[in-house]
Amino acid sequence: MLARRLPTILPMLDLEESLETTRIYSSVGLMGKGQAIIATRPFRSPHHTTSEAGLVGGGTMPAPGEVSLAHHGVLFLDELPEFNRHTLEVLRQPLEDGVVTISRAQATLTFPAQIMLVAALNPCPCGYLTDPKRECHCTPRQVQAYMGKISGPLLDRIDIHLDVPAVPYRELRGKVEGTSSAAMRDQAGAARDLQAARFAGRRLSNARMTHRQVKKHCALDDAGEMLLKQAMQELGLSARAYDEILRVARTIADLDGSENISATHLSEAVQYRRLDRNLFA
Ligand SMILES: [Zn+2]
Repeated sequence: MLARRLPTILPMLDLEESLETTRIYSSVGLMGKGQAIIATRPFRSPHHTTSEAGLVGGGTMPAPGEVSLAHHGVLFLDELPEFNRHTLEVLRQPLEDGVVTISRAQATLTFPAQIMLVAALNPCPCGYLTDPKRECHCTPRQVQAYMGKISGPLLDRIDIHLDVPAVPYRELRGKVEGTSSAAMRDQAGAARDLQAARFAGRRLSNARMTHRQVKKHCALDDAGEMLLKQAMQELGLSARAYDEILRVARTIADLDGSENISATHLSEAVQYRRLDRNLFA
Protein backbone atom coordinates (compact mmCIF):
# COMPACT_ATOMS: atom_id res chain seq x y z
CA MET A 1 0.00 0.00 0.00
CA LEU A 2 2.83 2.37 0.91
CA ALA A 3 4.75 1.58 -2.28
CA ARG A 4 1.70 2.09 -4.45
CA ARG A 5 1.18 5.57 -3.04
CA LEU A 6 4.77 6.67 -3.53
CA PRO A 7 4.15 8.24 -6.97
CA THR A 8 1.48 10.45 -5.37
CA ILE A 9 4.05 12.16 -3.13
CA LEU A 10 6.78 12.47 -5.76
CA PRO A 11 6.99 15.77 -7.64
CA MET A 12 4.88 15.85 -10.81
CA LEU A 13 6.56 14.80 -14.07
CA ASP A 14 7.92 17.75 -15.98
CA LEU A 15 7.30 17.92 -19.72
CA GLU A 16 10.63 16.43 -20.69
CA GLU A 17 10.20 13.49 -18.29
CA SER A 18 6.67 13.02 -19.50
CA LEU A 19 7.80 12.82 -23.12
CA GLU A 20 10.57 10.33 -22.31
CA THR A 21 8.18 8.04 -20.47
CA THR A 22 5.56 8.40 -23.20
CA ARG A 23 8.11 7.40 -25.85
CA ILE A 24 8.80 4.12 -24.03
CA TYR A 25 5.12 3.28 -23.56
CA SER A 26 4.21 4.04 -27.13
CA SER A 27 7.16 2.00 -28.43
CA VAL A 28 5.64 -1.11 -26.85
CA GLY A 29 2.04 -0.18 -27.62
CA LEU A 30 1.08 0.38 -23.99
CA MET A 31 -0.57 3.76 -24.38
CA GLY A 32 -4.24 3.74 -23.43
CA LYS A 33 -6.81 4.29 -26.17
CA GLY A 34 -6.89 8.00 -27.00
CA GLN A 35 -4.08 8.69 -24.52
CA ALA A 36 -1.64 11.23 -25.92
CA ILE A 37 0.87 11.46 -23.11
CA ILE A 38 1.89 9.78 -19.84
CA ALA A 39 1.33 12.53 -17.29
CA THR A 40 1.74 10.65 -14.01
CA ARG A 41 4.76 8.82 -12.68
CA PRO A 42 4.57 5.15 -13.56
CA PHE A 43 4.22 2.46 -10.91
CA ARG A 44 5.19 -1.02 -12.03
CA SER A 45 4.97 -4.15 -9.88
CA PRO A 46 6.04 -7.19 -11.90
CA HIS A 47 5.41 -10.65 -10.42
CA HIS A 48 8.38 -12.60 -9.07
CA THR A 49 8.06 -15.11 -11.92
CA THR A 50 8.90 -12.36 -14.45
CA SER A 51 11.80 -13.35 -16.71
CA GLU A 52 15.04 -11.45 -17.01
CA ALA A 53 13.94 -10.04 -20.39
CA GLY A 54 10.62 -9.03 -18.89
CA LEU A 55 12.28 -7.21 -16.03
CA VAL A 56 15.26 -5.49 -17.62
CA GLY A 57 14.41 -5.79 -21.31
CA GLY A 58 15.63 -8.02 -24.09
CA GLY A 59 14.22 -10.62 -26.46
CA THR A 60 15.11 -11.34 -30.08
CA MET A 61 13.73 -7.94 -31.07
CA PRO A 62 15.02 -6.15 -27.95
CA ALA A 63 12.16 -4.45 -26.13
CA PRO A 64 12.23 -2.38 -22.94
CA GLY A 65 11.44 -4.28 -19.74
CA GLU A 66 9.68 -3.31 -16.51
CA VAL A 67 12.67 -1.30 -15.33
CA SER A 68 12.25 0.99 -18.36
CA LEU A 69 8.46 1.07 -18.11
CA ALA A 70 9.05 2.41 -14.60
CA HIS A 71 11.36 5.17 -15.95
CA HIS A 72 10.87 8.35 -13.86
CA GLY A 73 8.61 6.36 -11.54
CA VAL A 74 8.57 3.46 -9.13
CA LEU A 75 9.51 -0.18 -9.71
CA PHE A 76 8.09 -2.30 -6.91
CA LEU A 77 9.35 -5.84 -6.33
CA ASP A 78 7.18 -7.59 -3.76
CA GLU A 79 8.60 -10.72 -2.06
CA LEU A 80 12.08 -9.89 -3.28
CA PRO A 81 13.71 -13.22 -2.27
CA GLU A 82 11.26 -15.07 -4.54
CA PHE A 83 12.70 -13.40 -7.66
CA ASN A 84 15.29 -15.32 -9.61
CA ARG A 85 18.63 -14.39 -8.14
CA HIS A 86 20.34 -13.92 -11.47
CA THR A 87 17.49 -11.70 -12.68
CA LEU A 88 17.97 -9.49 -9.63
CA GLU A 89 21.70 -9.25 -10.24
CA VAL A 90 21.03 -7.91 -13.72
CA LEU A 91 19.18 -5.02 -12.06
CA ARG A 92 22.42 -3.71 -10.61
CA GLN A 93 23.56 -2.05 -13.82
CA PRO A 94 20.40 0.01 -14.45
CA LEU A 95 20.27 0.96 -10.76
CA GLU A 96 23.77 2.30 -11.09
CA ASP A 97 23.60 3.95 -14.51
CA GLY A 98 19.94 4.88 -14.95
CA VAL A 99 19.98 3.08 -18.31
CA VAL A 100 19.76 -0.51 -19.54
CA THR A 101 22.20 -1.64 -22.17
CA ILE A 102 21.29 -4.68 -24.24
CA SER A 103 24.00 -6.11 -26.47
CA ARG A 104 23.17 -8.13 -29.53
CA ALA A 105 25.42 -9.35 -32.31
CA GLN A 106 23.94 -6.73 -34.65
CA ALA A 107 23.73 -3.77 -32.32
CA THR A 108 23.79 -2.44 -28.80
CA LEU A 109 20.60 -0.85 -27.54
CA THR A 110 20.14 1.49 -24.64
CA PHE A 111 16.84 2.08 -22.85
CA PRO A 112 16.33 4.70 -20.15
CA ALA A 113 15.72 3.31 -16.65
CA GLN A 114 15.86 6.01 -14.01
CA ILE A 115 13.75 4.48 -11.33
CA MET A 116 13.06 4.46 -7.66
CA LEU A 117 13.31 0.80 -6.68
CA VAL A 118 11.10 -0.32 -3.82
CA ALA A 119 11.27 -3.90 -2.63
CA ALA A 120 9.49 -5.78 0.12
CA LEU A 121 10.39 -8.97 1.91
CA ASN A 122 9.41 -10.84 5.05
CA PRO A 123 11.90 -11.03 7.91
CA CYS A 124 11.88 -14.86 7.60
CA PRO A 125 10.10 -17.53 5.50
CA CYS A 126 7.03 -17.64 7.80
CA GLY A 127 6.96 -13.86 8.24
CA TYR A 128 6.63 -13.67 12.03
CA LEU A 129 10.25 -13.28 13.12
CA THR A 130 9.83 -9.67 14.27
CA ASP A 131 6.15 -9.91 15.21
CA PRO A 132 5.67 -9.49 18.97
CA LYS A 133 2.28 -11.27 18.89
CA ARG A 134 3.02 -14.37 16.81
CA GLU A 135 5.62 -17.02 17.12
CA CYS A 136 8.15 -17.72 14.39
CA HIS A 137 9.13 -21.35 13.94
CA CYS A 138 11.89 -20.80 11.40
CA THR A 139 15.37 -22.05 12.27
CA PRO A 140 18.29 -19.59 12.12
CA ARG A 141 19.54 -21.56 9.12
CA GLN A 142 16.20 -21.10 7.31
CA VAL A 143 16.23 -17.37 8.04
CA GLN A 144 19.79 -17.11 6.78
CA ALA A 145 19.01 -19.05 3.59
CA TYR A 146 16.00 -16.80 2.96
CA MET A 147 17.89 -13.55 3.40
CA GLY A 148 20.85 -15.02 1.52
CA LYS A 149 18.79 -15.10 -1.68
CA ILE A 150 19.46 -11.38 -1.96
CA SER A 151 23.07 -10.63 -2.71
CA GLY A 152 25.11 -8.19 -0.66
CA PRO A 153 25.96 -6.05 -3.73
CA LEU A 154 22.26 -5.62 -4.56
CA LEU A 155 21.39 -4.72 -0.97
CA ASP A 156 24.28 -2.33 -1.00
CA ARG A 157 22.55 -0.39 -3.76
CA ILE A 158 19.37 0.07 -1.74
CA ASP A 159 19.65 3.26 0.29
CA ILE A 160 16.88 2.85 2.81
CA HIS A 161 15.91 -0.31 4.71
CA LEU A 162 12.85 -0.04 6.92
CA ASP A 163 11.00 -2.31 9.27
CA VAL A 164 7.28 -2.11 8.62
CA PRO A 165 5.52 -3.78 11.55
CA ALA A 166 1.94 -5.04 11.26
CA VAL A 167 -0.55 -2.27 11.98
CA PRO A 168 -3.13 -3.18 14.66
CA TYR A 169 -6.69 -3.22 13.35
CA ARG A 170 -7.73 -0.53 15.82
CA GLU A 171 -5.18 1.91 14.32
CA LEU A 172 -6.25 1.14 10.77
CA ARG A 173 -9.80 2.02 11.73
CA GLY A 174 -8.72 5.07 13.73
CA LYS A 175 -9.55 8.57 12.66
CA VAL A 176 -6.15 10.11 13.43
CA GLU A 177 -5.06 11.87 10.29
CA GLY A 178 -1.42 11.81 9.24
CA THR A 179 0.23 14.17 6.77
CA SER A 180 -1.74 14.18 3.51
CA SER A 181 -0.15 13.10 0.23
CA ALA A 182 -0.59 16.63 -1.11
CA ALA A 183 1.35 18.10 1.83
CA MET A 184 4.09 15.48 1.42
CA ARG A 185 4.32 16.24 -2.28
CA ASP A 186 4.83 19.92 -1.41
CA GLN A 187 7.66 18.97 0.96
CA ALA A 188 9.24 16.73 -1.68
CA GLY A 189 8.89 19.53 -4.24
CA ALA A 190 10.58 22.03 -1.93
CA ALA A 191 13.46 19.60 -1.36
CA ARG A 192 13.78 19.07 -5.13
CA ASP A 193 13.87 22.84 -5.66
CA LEU A 194 16.83 23.06 -3.29
CA GLN A 195 18.51 20.32 -5.30
CA ALA A 196 17.83 22.08 -8.60
CA ALA A 197 19.54 25.18 -7.16
CA ARG A 198 22.43 23.05 -5.83
CA PHE A 199 23.09 21.45 -9.20
CA ALA A 200 22.57 24.68 -11.13
CA GLY A 201 19.43 23.61 -12.95
CA ARG A 202 20.79 20.32 -14.20
CA ARG A 203 18.38 17.41 -13.94
CA LEU A 204 20.09 15.84 -10.99
CA SER A 205 18.85 14.79 -7.59
CA ASN A 206 20.79 13.95 -4.44
CA ALA A 207 20.38 10.25 -5.17
CA ARG A 208 22.42 10.60 -8.36
CA MET A 209 25.31 12.59 -6.93
CA THR A 210 28.75 11.27 -7.90
CA HIS A 211 31.36 10.58 -5.24
CA ARG A 212 32.95 13.94 -5.99
CA GLN A 213 29.63 15.75 -5.63
CA VAL A 214 28.95 13.93 -2.36
CA LYS A 215 32.28 15.23 -1.07
CA LYS A 216 31.38 18.73 -2.13
CA HIS A 217 27.77 18.94 -0.98
CA CYS A 218 27.67 16.66 2.06
CA ALA A 219 30.25 18.17 4.36
CA LEU A 220 29.96 17.07 7.99
CA ASP A 221 31.05 18.80 11.16
CA ASP A 222 33.43 17.02 13.55
CA ALA A 223 30.59 15.38 15.51
CA GLY A 224 29.09 14.11 12.26
CA GLU A 225 32.43 12.73 11.04
CA MET A 226 32.84 10.85 14.32
CA LEU A 227 29.33 9.45 14.18
CA LEU A 228 29.71 8.21 10.62
CA LYS A 229 33.11 6.69 11.25
CA GLN A 230 31.72 4.79 14.22
CA ALA A 231 28.71 3.56 12.23
CA MET A 232 30.93 2.41 9.37
CA GLN A 233 33.05 0.35 11.74
CA GLU A 234 30.16 -1.09 13.72
CA LEU A 235 28.07 -2.04 10.72
CA GLY A 236 30.99 -3.00 8.51
CA LEU A 237 29.71 -0.75 5.72
CA SER A 238 31.22 -0.48 2.26
CA ALA A 239 32.56 2.68 0.65
CA ARG A 240 29.42 2.67 -1.47
CA ALA A 241 27.22 2.61 1.63
CA TYR A 242 29.23 5.52 3.02
CA ASP A 243 28.26 7.70 0.05
CA GLU A 244 24.68 6.43 0.16
CA ILE A 245 24.29 7.39 3.80
CA LEU A 246 25.56 10.88 2.98
CA ARG A 247 23.18 11.24 0.02
CA VAL A 248 20.24 10.21 2.20
CA ALA A 249 21.38 12.52 5.01
CA ARG A 250 21.61 15.37 2.47
CA THR A 251 18.00 14.70 1.45
CA ILE A 252 16.81 14.54 5.07
CA ALA A 253 18.50 17.90 5.67
CA ASP A 254 16.87 19.29 2.49
CA LEU A 255 13.44 18.14 3.68
CA ASP A 256 14.22 19.93 6.90
CA GLY A 257 15.16 23.08 4.96
CA SER A 258 18.64 22.93 6.48
CA GLU A 259 21.78 23.94 4.65
CA ASN A 260 24.01 21.83 6.89
CA ILE A 261 23.77 18.14 7.61
CA SER A 262 23.34 17.86 11.37
CA ALA A 263 24.09 14.85 13.55
CA THR A 264 20.33 14.22 13.75
CA HIS A 265 20.00 14.08 9.95
CA LEU A 266 23.00 11.78 9.76
CA SER A 267 21.88 9.38 12.46
CA GLU A 268 18.49 9.06 10.81
CA ALA A 269 20.24 8.10 7.56
CA VAL A 270 22.42 5.55 9.40
CA GLN A 271 19.33 3.96 10.94
CA TYR A 272 18.06 3.17 7.47
CA ARG A 273 20.90 0.66 6.96
CA ARG A 274 19.06 -1.99 8.98
CA LEU A 275 19.73 -4.93 6.74
CA ASP A 276 23.49 -4.38 6.74
CA ARG A 277 23.23 -4.79 10.47
CA ASN A 278 21.34 -8.07 10.11
CA LEU A 279 23.66 -9.41 7.47
CA PHE A 280 26.86 -8.62 9.21
CA ALA A 281 25.73 -9.35 12.77
ZN1 LIG B 1 9.65 -17.34 10.72
